Amino acid sequence: MSEAIIRLEDVNKWFGQFHVLRNINLSVAQGERIVICGPSGSGKSTMIRCINRLEEHQQGHIFVDGVELTNDLKQIEAIRRDVGMVFQHFNLFPHLTVLENLTLGPIWVLKQSRADAEATAMKYLERVRIPDQAAKYPGQLSGGQQQRVAIARSLCMSPKIMLFDEPTSALDPEMVKEVLDVMVGLAEESGMTMLCVTHEMGFARKVADRVIFMDQGEIIEENTPDAFFDSPKNERTQLFLSQIL
Ligand code: ADP
Ligand code: MG
Repeated sequence: MSEAIIRLEDVNKWFGQFHVLRNINLSVAQGERIVICGPSGSGKSTMIRCINRLEEHQQGHIFVDGVELTNDLKQIEAIRRDVGMVFQHFNLFPHLTVLENLTLGPIWVLKQSRADAEATAMKYLERVRIPDQAAKYPGQLSGGQQQRVAIARSLCMSPKIMLFDEPTSALDPEMVKEVLDVMVGLAEESGMTMLCVTHEMGFARKVADRVIFMDQGEIIEENTPDAFFDSPKNERTQLFLSQIL
């Protein structure tokens, strides 16, 4: 396997007195696709938010693309440019059109010309199969469409790594598949490094190289998807899977 593009070494984090991440060690190879699952409150979001410094860890080391995450703002900016993130609740700018949502970062952060940014935006809107929605506002789209816009918006920044935090869990059931299909396509066509918090087992089996199970701030178990879902070793993993299956 190639060198790790993300490395967490003995990472610990507290919210006040609450020990939310406990001795997390994780190494992600370039191009690797990882699914993270575990009960609500186990620290999944906190862990992936630490990777682009939306949260700060207090102990241990996090390296992204060879750079250690510290308080150095220049490094944080550089890392955020490499790391795209898609949230449960889309987080689109409601007062901007879909096209404007996609071109804002490329124009202001990457200093692209408007014409270039719009061409790239349309390319990714086609990829997520909603080029016809470019002139609309987020509020005029379905949840599934909004999430696909959010994915396209991240891709417009040409990230090396994509983080997904339960991207389908706020969607009505009939819209889950259209978003998962886009993510499967991305995984299969782009070779992008992906970390995805999700309980969508079909997705995990299809694209994940590794499934990681977290509970109470710790990584309890990790394995290939088939081994993980078919023969979980840890009792807590077994209990969790019996509840979601
Ligand atoms: P998960 O994504 O696995 O559901 P989170 O990482 O969101 O879990 O949260 C882990 C724990 O940390 C939860 O108990 C949650 O209430 C707590 N927590 C998350 N964010 C904060 C915060 N900003 N301040 C205090 N506690 C938090
Ligand atoms: Mg979460």
